[in-house]
Parts: sequence; structure tokens; C-alpha cells
Amino acid sequence: MHLRIGQLRQVVPETLEHCWGVVTDGGPLAGSVLDIDHVPVRLACHACGADTTVAHVLVLTCSACGSGDIEVVTGEEFLVTSIDLGAYAADTTSREGTHG
Ligand SMILES: [Zn+2]
Repeated sequence: MHLRIGQLRQVVPETLEHCWGVVTDGGPLAGSVLDIDHVPVRLACHACGADTTVAHVLVLTCSACGSGDIEVVTGEEFLVTSIDLGAYAADTTSREGTHG
């Protein structure tokens, strides 16, 4: 079970793995392991064109010129990238926006 989670999601891996164990217990996915791929936050700056990686996710400005006129390139991911059980791959491709 592979997940891709952007840093902007503020997901705590330990919590997620614990919840995964609870929800899959006794089911067809019982015993499966989460493999979480953390994605750094990348911004594309509209002001200077720089493509930068954000060190502190609370400050979303261009690290090249300081402009706030930016676009988040990566970091908002919360995707199931692959599942080792073929039967589940078809209907569990994305969990985007299921909560909140
Ligand atoms: Zn810039």
C-alpha cells in the first residue's frame, strides 16, 4: 500500500499507520503495510519564474525573490499511488477531499 502525501497535508505518519491498522483489522487488507512517500512543497513563482522548495510550510513565499504571487506545484498530494491487491486498485485510486 503506497501513499503519496504532501507536506501541506500535515499528516502525522504514526497516526495514519495506526488508523490504517484499525480500519483494515479483520478485513481483506488486514496485515497490509502503509508505505508513505512524503512530497516536499514546491512553489512556482509568478513574479520571477523561480521554482523553489519550501522549507517552512507556514511561509508560502518565493525563496528566490520573496514574492507571495506563487503557485503550489507539489505538496498538496494525498494519493494512493499503488496497492498490492489488484482487485482494489480500480476503486481506490484517490482519496482526495474525503474529509473536511
Ligand atoms: Zn520569485
